[in-house]
Amino acid sequence: MDLHEKVSIVTGGSRGIGRACCHALAAAGSTVAVNYLSRKDAAEKVAEELRSHGVQANAYRADVSDEEQTNVMIEQIMNDFSRVDVIVNNAGITNDRSFLKMTKDQWHKVLLVNLDGPFNVISAILPQLCERKWGRIINISSIVAQMGNFGQSNYAVAKGGLIAFTKTLAREVAAKGVTVNAVAPGFIETDMTAKVPDSALEIIKKLTPMGRLGQPDEVARAVRFLAAPQASFITGQVINVNGGMYM
Ligand code: NAD
Repeated sequence: MDLHEKVSIVTGGSRGIGRACCHALAAAGSTVAVNYLSRKDAAEKVAEELRSHGVQANAYRADVSDEEQTNVMIEQIMNDFSRVDVIVNNAGITNDRSFLKMTKDQWHKVLLVNLDGPFNVISAILPQLCERKWGRIINISSIVAQMGNFGQSNYAVAKGGLIAFTKTLAREVAAKGVTVNAVAPGFIETDMTAKVPDSALEIIKKLTPMGRLGQPDEVARAVRFLAAPQASFITGQVINVNGGMYM
């Protein structure tokens, strides 16, 4: 799992699964660009922690749903590190409501971050990956794309779209040395699931053969595996990290 000489970007890297991905990639030797939306202090703290492990790391602000901001961020990363080799599209939001009550605005906001976000980041970086004939793109999808979930039609569509995007792009760039995969976490203990009522979490645990929520590190290890040079013949796949909830 050697990522020395590689530069990775993790979107939404200041907390939760994104933060764990930053740590896992840095532990394998990668330089890490930690993208954040609003928590500058938290992102800079993550970058500082990574640097103390002996790798280069900086925090970069951008709303990935905004193409202009994303392009400016990628330019800054290029100025600092000259390249990007690994993209982890982790930034995501939920905005839950049953479909009967869902507004178009709620629908669009979730698609804009969870689907247009990866579009913006990948389009800004893909040409250089293809030119250097090496790259890793890892999209964080969700078990909700595979099973559906009450109140999450917007999120399920965005995360399902991300799987479809992953498979299509994987076919388009395979011959250029770029792999494109998705990781689909089940329910993981982060700020995102902290919003879920305890009673619902109990049901989720009962429906999970392992009987518990996952930890961000458990997702990050799958991401690091896909990022590694050793994962060279794996593309267009969805790796489920869900304690057996969906098989
Ligand atoms: P989280 O809310 O802790 O982290 C999400 C991160 O994305 C935050 O750092 C947030 O600031 C960032 N972000 C949100 N909008 C952004 C934007 N427009 N631009 C840049 N950054 C933005 O949640 P998490 O659980 O760590 O989620 C990480 C990813 O994993 C998300 O894509 C989420 O959908 C996915 N996921 C989470 C779970 C879970 O159970 N926690 C399950 C399946 C998938």
